[in-house]
Amino acid sequence: MGEKINVKEIVKRKKEDLKLEVEKIKEKGINPKLAVILASDDEASKIYVGKKRKMCEELGILQEEYILDKNVDTQEVVEIIKRLNNDSSVNGILVQLPLFKHLNMDVILDTISDKKDVDGFHPLTLGKLFIGEAETFIPCTPKGIMTILDDIGTTYEGKHAVIVGRSRIVGKPISQILLKRGATVTICHSKTGDISLYTKQADILVAAVGKPHIITKDMIKPGAIVVDVGINRIAGKILGDVDTENALEVCSKITPVPGGVGLTTVLSLLENVVQATKEQNNI
Ligand code: NDP
Repeated sequence: MGEKINVKEIVKRKKEDLKLEVEKIKEKGINPKLAVILASDDEASKIYVGKKRKMCEELGILQEEYILDKNVDTQEVVEIIKRLNNDSSVNGILVQLPLFKHLNMDVILDTISDKKDVDGFHPLTLGKLFIGEAETFIPCTPKGIMTILDDIGTTYEGKHAVIVGRSRIVGKPISQILLKRGATVTICHSKTGDISLYTKQADILVAAVGKPHIITKDMIKPGAIVVDVGINRIAGKILGDVDTENALEVCSKITPVPGGVGLTTVLSLLENVVQATKEQNNI
């Protein structure tokens, strides 16, 4: 019988460490600051922005929000980002996705200075990640996944990691990180066909699909470590991509949903803000 990973406890510990780090930076007269741009009506996005605001408050990180209405155009968002790029009191810039449909996401994300790209979606940031450069921002969800895997003592060399999903924000970056750490990586997606052929071989299985319970117990290798990234809102409940309760009969460890990867995603953002502040001030 496997166990649910206590992600809440991991995040509590890491938050304490980060808070101390913020205090040390403040002793030098520097106040880490995150700027958040919300250009969307998406209810989930509003919740995520609220969670980020709350954690900033808990850690003593300053935060300013730009809540834009649906009349905003791409150029106006670009101008705000340019201003923030040049504002030395702002250390990190986050554009909450998804954006209003009429906005050009690529143009907007490409405007963020790679020095302040704390969400890690700028092509330069992702490029550095893909060539294995250490000095880069790791996108928040993959970074949070690694926080969990490392914390529970996962080893990677000689392991087969199977990622289901190939998105820019989760599937692709986590595959590169696991590859760099020595795992042999397989990426599955909607055109793979029978994904169970691959998932059954996974020592480390990462599900980032967005389909409730697409990963069932019979698709999991006995003893596997399972990371469930999925957040699916069904009839007022939040379900992951993995049928957790039954998966527990075969896997060794699994991240719960809710209370799993989502918690480390927010933590990772603020770790990146602290990293950006230190790099910008040569600390
Ligand atoms: P995307 O929709 O961008 O990507 C989903 C991926 O799943 C695509 O690569 C798609 O393949 C693949 N896919 C879709 N259907 C199947 C299928 N039947 N079999 C195999 N692969 C399939 O989603 P995201 O990566 O942005 O997010 C994935 C999930 O994670 C969502 O539920 C999202 O809410 C959640 N999420 C959670 C976060 C957290 O902090 N916990 C953060 C970010 C996301 P193809 O490329 O071929 O279309």
